[in-house]
Amino acid sequence: MDKLKDRILHDGKCLPGGVLKVDGFINHQMDPQLMMEMAQEIVCRFDGVSIDKVITIEASGIAPAVMTGYLLGVPVLFAKKSVPRTMDGMLSTSVFSFTKQHAYDITVSGEYLCRGDRVLFVDDFLACGNAALGIMDLVDKAGAVLCGMAFLIEKSFQGGRSVLHSKGVRVESLVRISSLDDCRIEFGQ
Ligand code: 5GP
Repeated sequence: MDKLKDRILHDGKCLPGGVLKVDGFINHQMDPQLMMEMAQEIVCRFDGVSIDKVITIEASGIAPAVMTGYLLGVPVLFAKKSVPRTMDGMLSTSVFSFTKQHAYDITVSGEYLCRGDRVLFVDDFLACGNAALGIMDLVDKAGAVLCGMAFLIEKSFQGGRSVLHSKGVRVESLVRISSLDDCRIEFGQ
């Protein structure tokens, strides 16, 4: 998606350790027009796939997931990082955070992720695939069906795609970054 590539080149910043900062248009301040165009692209890529629900993880996945869910006309469920006492039938799993370098739990209510639900996972970044594996675990625990995963930005050099492919997951990324070495952003496969 050329528009996203241009925006990354213009406003993205490389941090040490292979981290891309996109706080100006995705992770802190958001660009709703671009967000909607990205959601439109996700919907195009999954054209013809029957999807009942979009799932994501708070907080950065929520904006693209909501716009995708709006376009598909389906509910959007986000996995929570803290568990409210009011939650019924909790499904939880542990995820190792690439950016924070520690594990945290994510939880959804079994009231909203149900057996047979056909879900699409939408998130901002694919790096090593840990967040995505956590979602797969929740989907399995619920007896739901994972239709695929869509990411705004994939850092191909961190291997998440092959982890997910080895588990038979369809992965779509709007932009793939092949290297952030020497704080230079390179696009590729
Ligand atoms: P993974 O679980 O695939 O290793 O990492 C994906 C998660 O970590 C995403 O949900 C995202 O929030 C965060 N993440 C990974 N790499 C980056 C990055 O380079 N920049 C930002 N802003 N977030 C990242």
